[in-house]
Amino acid sequence: MTERWNAMLAERQDYVPLEPLEPLSVLYLAGVSFCGSTLLSFIMNTHPEVVSVGEISPTARAEGPDYLCSCGAKLASCTLFASVRTVMARRFGVSMDPVYWKLLHRATANRYLDHLATVYTYPALVVHVRDTVREWVPAWRKGINWYARRNEAFIRSVLRVSGKRLFFDATKLSTRIPVLRRICGRRLLVLHLVRDPRGYAWSAGRHEGLTWDRAARNWTRSNLAVEHALAGLDPHRWIRIRYEDLCRDPDAVLARITGFAGVAPYTSDDPSRRGSHHIIGNEMRLSADPRPRPRLDETWRERLPAEGRDRVWALAGALAARYGYER
Ligand SMILES: [Zn+2]
Repeated sequence: MTERWNAMLAERQDYVPLEPLEPLSVLYLAGVSFCGSTLLSFIMNTHPEVVSVGEISPTARAEGPDYLCSCGAKLASCTLFASVRTVMARRFGVSMDPVYWKLLHRATANRYLDHLATVYTYPALVVHVRDTVREWVPAWRKGINWYARRNEAFIRSVLRVSGKRLFFDATKLSTRIPVLRRICGRRLLVLHLVRDPRGYAWSAGRHEGLTWDRAARNWTRSNLAVEHALAGLDPHRWIRIRYEDLCRDPDAVLARITGFAGVAPYTSDDPSRRGSHHIIGNEMRLSADPRPRPRLDETWRERLPAEGRDRVWALAGALAARYGYER
């Protein structure tokens, strides 16, 4: 049912691309925090055909004039983003504030209503109805199109400035998928990056103070929301990668990703990797080795108490088992 419903919603969209004759290639990383997305952004950005700026915008919490790009400059002073803003304005007539990019789709200015309108926290049927209403109400549809236009101008400008052909977007939020589908149509590629929920719970507890229950629920809802959004794509347009596999055998996983994305084969210690990075993401962006290599962090196996492991598995285990994790 989800496929048909999503197809119907796609028909309802009335978005006209900025450059209809030049299709955009975007590989979108969807998933939950602490899944290795910043690291993968660095790795993908060193590919000769791929450009990544990590997340499309600093998260609301970190957003502000002091936020640092991975190049070490404040957002307003970063040379790459200055060039991108210039191209956006001159070529596409879209202006972007140096700090407040306004690229993350919001349904309303009210944070609470926005949460209700975009997040996957209800039964599937409620989500279907909500998404339908969002497309049928002209003001809301117009709102999504407004964000889509800004994003298209941004992505096309980054590609122009970098001279590369595939944009790797590591924003992770499932709510971005409908916006990107407007821009890329059926060409949109999605990489669903998953991590063991116990590893996520350990990281989310340490960095964000989430309880085990909250972390397990967050992990489950966020991944289900990604699955809900993926149901509208052709099955060969998305892949699921496990963070642990990426760290254990990066070359095999990178081969899978490059094959899927249709770019040249590539290994994680390719000596040709060089160049500067302008990545927005977690704190590792500021101390990044120019030749980053995935390192498996499974601290949770020693540090997460048995009670926490049991609790997280009780709440998230069914979905985790579907992704190939074992109790
Ligand atoms: Zn920068």
